[in-house]
Amino acid sequence: MADSAVQQNLVAKNAEYASKFDKGDLGIPPAKNCIVVTCMDARIDPAAAYGIDIGDAHVIRNAGGHVRPALRDILISQQLVGTKELLVIKHTGCGMLSFKNEDALTMVEKNLGVQARANLEGFDFHTITNLEEAVKSDVKWLKDCSYVPRDVLVSGWIYDVATGKVKKVV
Ligand SMILES: [Zn+2]
Repeated sequence: MADSAVQQNLVAKNAEYASKFDKGDLGIPPAKNCIVVTCMDARIDPAAAYGIDIGDAHVIRNAGGHVRPALRDILISQQLVGTKELLVIKHTGCGMLSFKNEDALTMVEKNLGVQARANLEGFDFHTITNLEEAVKSDVKWLKDCSYVPRDVLVSGWIYDVATGKVKKVV
């Protein structure tokens, strides 16, 4: 099968990137010793917007930039690599503000069938009602989490997709 346009883009842009690549000697531990949990939203360029150079940080992305579904990654980063700081960065206009858990389950049933929905009974899509509260809730959860060492510095932020600016929440 021929490469899709997205695959062709990958091959072409990667060749260009690799031709100038000179960072092949970086170690596994992030140089800034930190984790950034942020949303998968395509409008966010974490490296540019958050000042993260290659090798600096573990960037964990998911819908909403939620820490609970990122626990596996956080554990690996903190326990196996020893990262000591964590930034939670959610953002304005997040898609997770636009629907409720029930809406997502209804879409699953409509698109994938009754059984698929039944299999997801109790599933939490981690939708967001209030952005600042969601940031505070994530930070509190990390601070209370028995899996997160007490000496890890945790802070919560909101990135504005309209201005490109971040502001500290907690
Ligand atoms: Zn988002």
